[in-house]
Amino acid sequence: MAQHDAPAKAAWNFAAGPARLPDAVLARAGAALFERGADGAAAIERPFTGAGFREVLADARQRLAALLGVPDHYRVLFLAGGAMHQFSMLPMNLLDPASGLRRVAYADSGYWSRRAMQEAARYAEVAVVARHAGALPLTAPPLDDWQVPPDCAYCHITANETVDGIAYPAWPNTGAVPLVADATSCFLSAPLDVSKFGLIYASAQKNIGPSGLTVVIVREDLLRRPALAAPSALCYRLQAAQDSCLNTPPTLAIHLAALVFDWISESGGLVAMASANRRKADLLYSAIDSSQGFYTAPVAHGHRSTTNVRFHLADERLTEVFLTDAAAAGLHHLRGHRQVGGLRASLYNAMPDAGVAALVDFMAEFARGHG
Ligand SMILES: *Cc1c(COP(=O)(O)O)cnc(C)c1O
Repeated sequence: MAQHDAPAKAAWNFAAGPARLPDAVLARAGAALFERGADGAAAIERPFTGAGFREVLADARQRLAALLGVPDHYRVLFLAGGAMHQFSMLPMNLLDPASGLRRVAYADSGYWSRRAMQEAARYAEVAVVARHAGALPLTAPPLDDWQVPPDCAYCHITANETVDGIAYPAWPNTGAVPLVADATSCFLSAPLDVSKFGLIYASAQKNIGPSGLTVVIVREDLLRRPALAAPSALCYRLQAAQDSCLNTPPTLAIHLAALVFDWISESGGLVAMASANRRKADLLYSAIDSSQGFYTAPVAHGHRSTTNVRFHLADERLTEVFLTDAAAAGLHHLRGHRQVGGLRASLYNAMPDAGVAALVDFMAEFARGHG
């Protein structure tokens, strides 16, 4: 069910985000969202205060909670904005100086974790508790027990570094300090033990749906922190009390996300997603590793992202030719992030095997032509 036959002249979108959505969701979305119902309103036109939309919201929450097995003492919020909004909402909401929680802890695993800590530094002193080495092959920060100072309100990790192509092989132990994860680019790509985290957030445009929506899963006790004077719409406690509807939530994105959650459960749930993602990533990484150095992957085995596969041509002067020829072959948006260069193929849930097979075939042919 998860995989769909490629159309005859397939074009594949390997963008990091907004990313490809499942074909079945796109096919369903037209009727589900844009056709007027008995009340004269198409789904996306319904008032967010009305029963129609509230039902969609409750459904989306329930489906997501079922997929992830979210424990009862967590709340699921559907908030407007992106992951970057969370970079500042975290310190705004979770610092609690009166209880001695004056600092925030961050692990530096690459591009997005550094962006997150730069933003947090505007509100609090940042303790950097772990760093990745920077030398090749790249790895996530080493996982020996982290010494997180007890005056830290939380410890933040970027579960999957979308730009660097680095993923944690396991979760760190942060003791009594709640672990907070930016899971934007790996959310719903595999099962996740929510109980290990105080808070998990993910903006939608990588693996959940369209941009404009961010899912936040937060442990209830963290909602009791007094918090700085966070603006109301950016306050987890107020949004939780109002069921994410303190103001108009991104209704279109929530509708679409609900269709994606459905598609994931129909396709076998997160275990099926994980094995499909493993299979796709293995296919691409082994094409890189068996190219006799024509292509190289900078990230160490065991730390390689399954969703964002980063690689380089040994002869970097061929990168532009590769991109041009790949686009002509129907393989699009493979340019690496400007900070790291090279190439990147994002293989989120909606990328079928056929897309990866087409890429691997093209890479072999390109290597023969230029090797
Ligand atoms: C894309 C991405 C972001 C930025 O998300 P926005 O929704 O654009 O703010 C942050 N963190 C990670 C890990 C990402 O992949």
